Amino acid sequence: MKRIRSRSLSDRIGSFVRDWSVPRQIAGQSSATKAAESSLSRGLRPRLEEADTVGTNICPYCAVGCSQLMYAKNGRVIHVEGDPRSPINQGTLCPKGAATLGLMTMPDRLDKVLYRAPHSDQWEEKPMDWAMDRIAHLTKRTRDETFVHKLPDGTIVNHTLGVGSLGGATLDNEENYLIKKLFSGGLGMVWIENQARV
Ligand code: SF4
Repeated sequence: MKRIRSRSLSDRIGSFVRDWSVPRQIAGQSSATKAAESSLSRGLRPRLEEADTVGTNICPYCAVGCSQLMYAKNGRVIHVEGDPRSPINQGTLCPKGAATLGLMTMPDRLDKVLYRAPHSDQWEEKPMDWAMDRIAHLTKRTRDETFVHKLPDGTIVNHTLGVGSLGGATLDNEENYLIKKLFSGGLGMVWIENQARV
């Protein structure tokens, strides 16, 4: 019993001497580098050491448009944080923006759509690409059927009132820019709205 207590005390003394910076500074180590390390700090690793890529992004949640740094490993995002270079958020993110990684990687994320054909009472599961093609086809068809070049009084309008767009807060500013360009300038749509301001 005495032997165990004695060994434990010597271990503690040895650990104390090893972690004490003064002997290491006397041995020539700089107080700014090795001599300042404790056994705990020696075992610490950089938080994002595993990341092999870092890219930039704009938070998809709201119109504040906070900048994000996206860290990835082997093509998969492993961490999202605020970009300190942004004059808007200066490295911070609100709780929603800080949860962007979950938005992107959660297994419950929906990647299919439910489709109910006209006059049907049954929902069918369809791939996302199928839905995008169908939306594009119906948009083009409706636009062509309702496009007005000239009003009865001769005023040239080149617009359609047959189709509109209501964007969501998860659209970022680049996407909204493209939506406005494509829908107004390209298709002649007049009714373009977005709820990001709420
Ligand atoms: S949801 Fe939060 S982090 Fe994202 S843009 Fe808005 S304020 Fe910034």
